[in-house]
Amino acid sequence: MEKKNSSPLCYKKGKLHFDNIPLSTIAGKVKTPFYLYSEKTLVENFNYFLDSANSAQINRPLICFALKANPNLKLLKSLAKAGAGADIVSGGELKRALDAGVKASKIVFSGVGKTQEEIIKGIKAGIYSFNVESIEELELINIEAKKLKKRARVAFRLNPKVHAKTHKHISTGFKTHKFGILKSDILKAVKNKKLWTHTDLVGLSMHIGSQLTCLKATRKAVKELGTLAIEVNRPLDFLDVGGGLGVDYGPEEKKKFSTPFQYMDLISKQLKTSFYKKYAFENDTRIVFEPGRVIAARAGAFITKVVRTKKSEDCFFAIVDGGMNDFVRTSLYGAYHEIYTEKKGSGKKIKTDIVGPICETADCFGTGRSLPKLKSGDLISVADVGAYGFSMASHYNMRELPKEIIVKKSGSFS
Ligand SMILES: *Cc1c(COP(=O)(O)O)cnc(C)c1O
Repeated sequence: MEKKNSSPLCYKKGKLHFDNIPLSTIAGKVKTPFYLYSEKTLVENFNYFLDSANSAQINRPLICFALKANPNLKLLKSLAKAGAGADIVSGGELKRALDAGVKASKIVFSGVGKTQEEIIKGIKAGIYSFNVESIEELELINIEAKKLKKRARVAFRLNPKVHAKTHKHISTGFKTHKFGILKSDILKAVKNKKLWTHTDLVGLSMHIGSQLTCLKATRKAVKELGTLAIEVNRPLDFLDVGGGLGVDYGPEEKKKFSTPFQYMDLISKQLKTSFYKKYAFENDTRIVFEPGRVIAARAGAFITKVVRTKKSEDCFFAIVDGGMNDFVRTSLYGAYHEIYTEKKGSGKKIKTDIVGPICETADCFGTGRSLPKLKSGDLISVADVGAYGFSMASHYNMRELPKEIIVKKSGSFS
């Protein structure tokens, strides 16, 4: 289980290939900039995550892919076929998951701002769980279920009061964050019969942040979740440990990364001691995961073309036709992503800033990268953009959204 999540990008005879197809072949048929996805890599990463859970003896794992990482319909269909459920955060994502063939019985609905309309849609669809983030939300679900003459399945999302060491915009598990409910409030609500006339408490959930590397906070939070489950003292269908496992994007992330197996092993051991050993009911509570990034990131590349180059004293700029509206992670989080040129090049490398056309200094995919000297018309690939890539794209500067191209397992692309 030491396998790493593989990338579809590699050089063959000095030319960049994606899933064994020369990049120039694909770019000859599609206008840049565009996203390029590997169905094979995506499904492999999903299976790797699931296999890791099984090897670590996680009980009946359910992997609910976090749709916000990549809601592409065709990719979701492939994941649904492979057995994935979905973690959704809006009515739009609910529709998309169902359209892709994800069973309602495998859908969990997270988010602090679920509207009345979204709650009604979720109840009608019969989703696996509303992961509720406030008592007010639970009250509304109970009222709407009553009106529909149905029962809604709910889980409390615990705020475990841990500090996940990640970018401050994607850390979600501390008491000053808007997410989840504090333990004392959950314990009170469990006993309040008025909240449960048309709802059933079927699980407990957590999610402490994204791009997690150090798993100390994860261990602590899982322990809190297990302990709460014992104190709640009810039979539970599932414990949902959320998503967030990080991806090694490249040299600037000089941290130690955990593999899916190490992650699963840690969760499995922690739950054994803090939950399963003390659980008073039938020992069949299953474990739900909500991974997004670790499944999808490596499966995507962003392909963009050099419009022109420009020199300014010591700086050499390659100005490309893709911008921060197409792919925003580097601008928004200062994230590092590997950048590959179409030709590997054997000559002298030049420190290059790869920048877009948008009127913002932050519109930049990488600075000071050692690359072969670029010229107008050259292709560039930004790697590992399959998660939080297209899903965060916008029309900023009145630009069109980039296309999405999928290389299928059969080797054809569309
Ligand atoms: C964003 C999110 C996830 C997925 O996070 P990743 O870092 O992509 O794995 C899972 N659960 C919830 C509630 C989320 O908001």
